[in-house]
Amino acid sequence: MIERAAALRRLPSIDRLLKEAAIAGLVAEYSHDTVVALLREGLEEIRGRAQAGAPLPPQAALVAELISRVKGGLKPTLCPVINATGVIIHTNLGRAPLSQEAIAAIETIAQGYSNLEFDLESGERGSRHSHLRDLLARLAGAQEAMVVNNNASAVLLALSTLAKGKEVIVSRGQAVEIGGGFRIPDVMRQSGARLVEVGTTNRTYLKDYEEAIGPRTGLLLRVHSSNFRIIGFAESVSIEELARLGRERGLPVLDDVGSGALLDTAQFGLAHEPMPQESLRAGVTLACFSGDKLLGGPQAGIIVGDKDAIERLRRNPLARAVRVDKFTLAALQATLLHYLRGEAQAKIPVWQMISRPLEAIADQAAEWALRLGKLGIEAQVIDGKSTVGGGSLPGETLPTKLVSLSFAGPPHRGALPVVSLSQFARRLREGTPPVIWRIERGAFLLDPRTVLPQDEAKLMAALEQVVHRLRPTAPGLSP
Ligand SMILES: *Cc1c(COP(=O)(O)O)cnc(C)c1O
Repeated sequence: MIERAAALRRLPSIDRLLKEAAIAGLVAEYSHDTVVALLREGLEEIRGRAQAGAPLPPQAALVAELISRVKGGLKPTLCPVINATGVIIHTNLGRAPLSQEAIAAIETIAQGYSNLEFDLESGERGSRHSHLRDLLARLAGAQEAMVVNNNASAVLLALSTLAKGKEVIVSRGQAVEIGGGFRIPDVMRQSGARLVEVGTTNRTYLKDYEEAIGPRTGLLLRVHSSNFRIIGFAESVSIEELARLGRERGLPVLDDVGSGALLDTAQFGLAHEPMPQESLRAGVTLACFSGDKLLGGPQAGIIVGDKDAIERLRRNPLARAVRVDKFTLAALQATLLHYLRGEAQAKIPVWQMISRPLEAIADQAAEWALRLGKLGIEAQVIDGKSTVGGGSLPGETLPTKLVSLSFAGPPHRGALPVVSLSQFARRLREGTPPVIWRIERGAFLLDPRTVLPQDEAKLMAALEQVVHRLRPTAPGLSP
């Protein structure tokens, strides 16, 4: 007890810490008050650890810990990572990377003022939605378009505008959870509409909808079951049939298409993902989809369809709460222009990755394995599978080549010291930039498909750095 109290008294004071060259440097560069506050927090935490019985590290280690804490507190936490997982639209890693043109568009618009809501022709106030109307009219056959924060807000806004206080009929197999807390029954409740489920989990017929329509019905809803698939004894109503029923009964039809595939995924050996243009052709009132899934653009919710319906959506006070910003609009416009110019597959990273030839991936994997071999790491190229991810195309995969690093084999000359896979993975995650990869059946796997061209050299450097930290005498990659 007495010893601990004496140890705690040895904790450096703030004044003493401020005299450390590294900390003085930080004070000179940044705010004195912030640095002091971060030091206090750090000391408090160390004191807490010591009081809980942990031994106090030596003075030099304490000072080093505090310095790294202050530095950490002054750095942004959101940072780029290298995605070597082979999951193309990785929700936890920020979904779709943008094209060079989309990035440039954000930069251009961010630098100054723009005609975001200003009509240059008339000199009067304009609408931010006007910038995408013509593009979406050409690409999806939309009469009118509107963009909001994300697809979840698009569904909420549409339901709240068109069906508040009314019943919305949806197939029981489509009252789904998309992930991250987006559940159709909950969104329905938030919107003030009442969910009426029809059919069964696996089978729903047109007559199920017909029989459920009554005086309180406000809307027919279809939700694409993006992230799961019912196989076997299953039946659902096509969007054409549902749209026809809506027209016959004078009811609006909303189609939550999900991933926003403007190109046909079937041409890349994948299942066909519903396309917004197909919904509009089928005659739905409105279709909505995400901007950052298969569309390959920024986070956004895009609503296309009937002009009157969209005008009602825009007048809903909720529209202001889910409004899209100018950077998103700039990036989305640049992304949609790729489709219009017929260069989507060549310029949009998501489609580049989906359409990447297996031979190109195999060459890259072989090259990485060779370079890793030079570092003394045993690396093999094996067959594997990439996935599209982002809650789209469940169970669908693209054949790929993986670089597999095995730590299990017998120790050989120049091998890494015994280090567990999870330790190795952690070190790579803590690097700059962090590398995120796959571990499957005891092997460390890198999928070249999702590593962007500009990240390849960084990935090799990160691997080299980790190996050198584990074994300082390892040969280098550079001659
Ligand atoms: C992904 C998805 C959503 C949610 O879209 P966000 O853009 O993530 O808000 C809603 N509905 C379907 C069918 C989806 O696939």
